[in-house]
Amino acid sequence: MVVLKAASPPVPSVNKINNGFPCSNGTIKPLITPSPSSFINLDQGDPEVFRSYWRKKSEECTVVINGEDLMSYLSDTSNVCWFMLPELREAIQRLHRVVGNASAGIDKHIVVGTGSTQLFQAALFALSPSDSPIPINVVAASPYYSEYKDEVEILRSGLYRWGGDAREYDKNEAYIEVVTAPNNPCGSIRRAVANCEGEGKVIHDLAYYWPQYTPVTQQYDHDLMLFTFSKCTGHAGSRIGWAIVKDIEVARKMTRFIHMSSIGVSKESQTRVAKIIGVICDSYQEIGSSLDPDELFFEYSRRKLRERWEKLRAVVDKSNLFSLAKYPKAYCTFTNHTSESYPAFAWMKCKGSIEDCESYLRNLKVLVRGGKRFGVDQKYARVSLLSSDDVFNEFLTRISNATRNRE
Ligand code: PMP
Repeated sequence: MVVLKAASPPVPSVNKINNGFPCSNGTIKPLITPSPSSFINLDQGDPEVFRSYWRKKSEECTVVINGEDLMSYLSDTSNVCWFMLPELREAIQRLHRVVGNASAGIDKHIVVGTGSTQLFQAALFALSPSDSPIPINVVAASPYYSEYKDEVEILRSGLYRWGGDAREYDKNEAYIEVVTAPNNPCGSIRRAVANCEGEGKVIHDLAYYWPQYTPVTQQYDHDLMLFTFSKCTGHAGSRIGWAIVKDIEVARKMTRFIHMSSIGVSKESQTRVAKIIGVICDSYQEIGSSLDPDELFFEYSRRKLRERWEKLRAVVDKSNLFSLAKYPKAYCTFTNHTSESYPAFAWMKCKGSIEDCESYLRNLKVLVRGGKRFGVDQKYARVSLLSSDDVFNEFLTRISNATRNRE
């Protein structure tokens, strides 16, 4: 029997694990507070920030998988995505109904993937013409998510190739534009911008279109939308993403790609994700607003990110070393309040004579991702705001100290 929990193995009680990191063998590894001389890694967007919420919900999120369960490759052969568990499809549809961020009703096809990383590649495969003598161009407006370019180029595919910044794309050839909304790295809400003669198809990567990061202003209904559980709840290790697709032929081709690359997606992960989504939706639908707001995942996670942004802005404003974008307020149809965005990353721009933000921060022993990786100059760098509290607080201390040392 395998027992899967949202954040921890069965042994430790909630009180015991407050001071440590639960390991798979049931022991507790003490939390290592970063020392002033150690490097801190804010390069990757590893979502540690929501861990304490899921620690409290550990028991509720437990999934029991017996020895004979989930053995088949197949899940639902009546569905285009035949390896997707029906309970996961229903959970995803329910989540989008509760949040109101995307239309995922019965007229849509849902394709599950091993993270939205696999689905991005499946989408490129499905949208590329199979009979063209030249590869189709894949474009994204800079600053674009740093992994797109590498994911497009890694196989040197004959089907598609990297076409650069969507705003500068002027070829009279077919193209695929990737629109990331809210954008990684800069948090802005975006639309397709390529303006040329060629026929364009669009992939909407909506990894961060959840209420903790940005107000939900409308229910998106694009042809091909990608979501990832990694950023929705922070369970990146489950490696589950999903695509919502209008055209059944595109959904079939995406399914075919996943068939060819991994013959489906782990059912253990699908089961766990369905369970966790159920816990989130139940808390909104069955008990609703009478609950302590910190019991509700999106309220908790938005508060967490808002507090980080407030602290970061206070330190950055005082520093006179960097600037940060301001985000417009908008009415969120999920919370019924007007609020700002609290993106998963800070897109920092160095002021004055500092030309390379990444190197400047590296000297402070803070690892971040420089602007070049996102198609812009090194004055910019992306800093993850999804780390643990200790790492985030250490980051603030280092910027404050750097400010003091320059005074
Ligand atoms: N798209 C964007 C914009 C992302 O930021 C990420 C994760 N960093 C992904 C896709 C990939 O997510 P996953 O973990 O589902 O592969």
